[in-house]
Order: sequence, then structure tokens, then C-alpha cells
Amino acid sequence: MKLVAATGNAHKLHEMRQILQGFEIVSAAEAGFAGEIAEMGKSFLENALIKARAVAAATRLPALADDSGLCVDALGGAPGIFSARYSGGGDRENRALLLKNLAGKADRRAHFCCAVALVFPDGRTVTAEGRTEGVILEKERGEGGFGYDPLFLSDDLKMSFAEASEEQKNAVSHRGRALVALRELL
Ligand code: IMP
Repeated sequence: MKLVAATGNAHKLHEMRQILQGFEIVSAAEAGFAGEIAEMGKSFLENALIKARAVAAATRLPALADDSGLCVDALGGAPGIFSARYSGGGDRENRALLLKNLAGKADRRAHFCCAVALVFPDGRTVTAEGRTEGVILEKERGEGGFGYDPLFLSDDLKMSFAEASEEQKNAVSHRGRALVALRELL
């Protein structure tokens, strides 16, 4: 099946291709979609649906969207759906702000959440969600991954997501779990 990934995030696209092997996944740009999509939803699932519907309507191809983020217990679930825009800067600035906001807090429990939506041009929709647990490190560890990966010590892997190989991360990650659940539903 040919799918358009409704994301401008090259890391997410790469992980989608690794996890959903057997599907042909083209980028939104390759499918001729150049628009910006405002993520106005109040949940990961709402935002994934907004993105997938917009790209399916524009490209007339099945569109796969992911909306994901990091939820930190001691911060009341923040940054959550605002993870990409937490600091107003990029990944590095987001991680710095997270460490600042957690300074002195004993509870460093957190989880990543991911909602995925596959929307067909005729409106049929399949969705799934995934979650993975861990704690926020005091200092960054590892060079791989993206976003908050160097600060996320995975309960499953006993290492940070940035220290893990792609295969190790995908086997336990929120995105891996959501996409495997979606594949089962298909
Ligand atoms: P979205 O594009 O609105 O879904 O933003 C997702 C944001 O959550 C990313 O920019 C990262 O900051 C964070 N995030 C989501 N998934 C991951 C992951 O697998 N590793 C690290 N950070 C992630």
C-alpha cells in the first residue's frame, strides 16, 4: 500500500519507514503537499486526525499522521501536545527548558505518547495509540534519535533513547507501539 506521511519531521518519517516495512511511504513534499497545517487539537489523537485528513484531501492518497510528545508527571503532563513548541526554539532549547523546569524535583517520571491516524481519500479512518515509560535524566546521554531522546531513560531498555539503536528504540517506543497496533488493525 502506498501512503503519504503527513509530517515535515524527517526523523518521524524515517521511523515510520523502519517500523512499517512493506508499505511504500512517500513524504508529503514528494506527494506534492507543501501546505502548513495548524495543529489546533486538544489531544494527540485530534492533532493526528487534523494532519492526516488535510493531507489525504489534498493528495487523494491514504495519509498517515503521527502526533506525539513527552508528558512529565511532575510538570502536570507538560510539555504534552506542545512538546515541539515548548521553548519556542528547537530540540536543544526544548531539552534545556525541560531540565530547568525539573531542577530540584525528585519525581522525574515521564512517558512519551503517540497517536497515529491513517485517513483514506474516501474518509475511512484507522487510528491507534502507543505509550512508553521512563524517567528524565539529569544530563543528556547518547548521540542518536531526536527531540527529547537524550534525556529519556527508557524503563524497557535501561538506556536513553539516544543511546539505543534504531531497532531497539522502535521495538519499545510510543511510535513503534502505535504503528504496530495500526498495522494489526489494517
Ligand atoms: P509533533 O510534530 O507536534 O507531533 O511534535 C512532536 C514533538 O514531541 C517532537 O518535536 C519532539 O520534541 C517530541 N517527540 C515526539 N516523539 C519523540 C521521540 O521519539 N523522541 C524524542 N522526542 C519526541
